Amino acid sequence: QSGSDASAMHTQATRNADGDWVINGKKSWITSGSVARYIILFAITTPGIGAKGISAFIIDTRRPGFHAGKIEPKLGIRASATCEIEFHDYVCPAADMLGAQGKGFGIAMGVLDAGRIGIASQAVGLCRAAYEASIAYVRERKAFGHAIGSFQMIQAKIADMKCRLDAAQMLTLRAAFAKGEAERTGGRFSTEAAVAKLYASEAAMWITHQAVQIHGGMGYSKEMPLERYFRDAKITEIYEGTSEIQRIVIARNETGLR
Ligand SMILES: Cc1cc2nc3c(=O)[nH]c(=O)nc-3n(C[C@H](O)[C@H](O)[C@H](O)COP(=O)(O)OP(=O)(O)OC[C@H]3O[C@@H](n4cnc5c(N)ncnc54)[C@H](O)[C@@H]3O)c2cc1C
Repeated sequence: QSGSDASAMHTQATRNADGDWVINGKKSWITSGSVARYIILFAITTPGIGAKGISAFIIDTRRPGFHAGKIEPKLGIRASATCEIEFHDYVCPAADMLGAQGKGFGIAMGVLDAGRIGIASQAVGLCRAAYEASIAYVRERKAFGHAIGSFQMIQAKIADMKCRLDAAQMLTLRAAFAKGEAERTGGRFSTEAAVAKLYASEAAMWITHQAVQIHGGMGYSKEMPLERYFRDAKITEIYEGTSEIQRIVIARNETGLR
């Protein structure tokens, strides 16, 4: 159930007679769910009160009651194992609750702010790889007796790619700097993280798209990495909060309106 509406989760944890937590439920789209030894799980400990009823737990995937499902076939990031995970009467020791009861949602949101800088960085890497491959190709590939990089329409693409690459990189560095400052001052950096994630992921989509075009038929071939960059870029607009959710975060923080 959970996704953009992050607090709408169904997985529940209830206390048993020993004071430990018994967890039941299913989570979809869990990165490294099939290989992780430990997982941070968010579950409902007090139903019916929304985000205030969510707590965080440290899960040892080798304990009974934890099951990892099949690895999802995906458009991109195929080197990353993504799967469903299920809990059937998984007993979590009371000491393995992370933070206080009912404080899980705040922990999740804090982790998301930092995670968004990670996804922005992933997007910047894709931008840079696609851009550098394009520079090399437009120098080397000839058409009509000239390097294709001498054609104005290709030059315009290169210039626009360079602007978006640099902007994505600088916004990501700004967000990382803001996170460092926040660690010192105790402040927030959610706007900077959302701006970096939104901009860099859309730049990655755009730049990898242009890079495939610049490479012509070779851009469409699995002999070169461009088609993979293009497929890998899409996820950066979806996970750790979609582009629509980033726009909501930014606009709410800027206006103070909900
Ligand atoms: C490969 C992969 C790995 C993932 N890894 C993890 C993981 O490790 N852990 C984890 O917890 N999650 C993980 N996720 C889940 C990911 O965070 C969600 O897929 C993402 O947040 C979007 O949620 P959803 O898929 O439910 O889409 P939905 O929330 O159903 O959204 C569908 C569409 O509606 C739009 N939408 C929703 N609400 C609004 C609104 N209020 N205003 C405007 N538009 C809206 C969305 O932007 C989107 O375009 C992963 C997903 C993928 C694909």
